[in-house]
Amino acid sequence: MVTEHLKIVEQNIARACEQSGRNRKEVTLIAVSKTKPVEMMEEAMAAGIRTFGENKVQEILKKKPLLPDDINWHMIGHLQRNKVRQIAGNVSMIHSVDSLRLAEQIQKEYEAIGKMADVLIEVNIAREETKFGLMPEETETVIRETAKMSHLNVRGLMTIAPYVDDPEENRIHFRNLRKLLVDINGKNIDNISMTELSMGMTGDYEIAIEEGATFVRVGTGIFGSRQYAK
Ligand SMILES: *Cc1c(COP(=O)(O)O)cnc(C)c1O
Repeated sequence: MVTEHLKIVEQNIARACEQSGRNRKEVTLIAVSKTKPVEMMEEAMAAGIRTFGENKVQEILKKKPLLPDDINWHMIGHLQRNKVRQIAGNVSMIHSVDSLRLAEQIQKEYEAIGKMADVLIEVNIAREETKFGLMPEETETVIRETAKMSHLNVRGLMTIAPYVDDPEENRIHFRNLRKLLVDINGKNIDNISMTELSMGMTGDYEIAIEEGATFVRVGTGIFGSRQYAK
């Protein structure tokens, strides 16, 4: 099932790239494997996937030793400050920096292990009350502060778009996130030159690619629906 699903997702990504004049290599597919067993992840690996997204620190730490070392793990879920120490050095990228205090904690823990943290700043671009992420107008200020941190590399912006029936409704949010990135890059802040846009999930990744996504995070579309233990 995973192999078949991936084939379809890959075709959709290729088409979206083609339609928007982009090179397929500019877009990384993150297979969101949260709640799914390593056996399904191995099936995805056999089909060429090397980048997995998880939203829980414990799940990453549990699965990581069971899979090869060349896998890129991306932390895409809300990160509590008291979990940063456990995740430091164990992921390729943290997509969910949603406060200055979290950025400070990441700086502290990565300095302690002598490594650089590649991070994205999470923006609540659609201003939903229920969502994590900085408001668009707060983003520049937080980035100016993180720019001074010696062990933090701000690589770009991330957003979780609203849940909608028609993915076209989210185009404006993806476009606005890209505008925000271009706008902040234009301020020529020392150490800040952002290239990554993490946006688009199963329902809307093609639209996100058309609007400039460099990472799409696809879970259900690859692994099927998730069942959470009660
Ligand atoms: C679960 C999750 C996804 C994947 O969602 P699907 O709709 O299953 O593709 C993407 N991004 C984040 C942050 C998630 O938590």
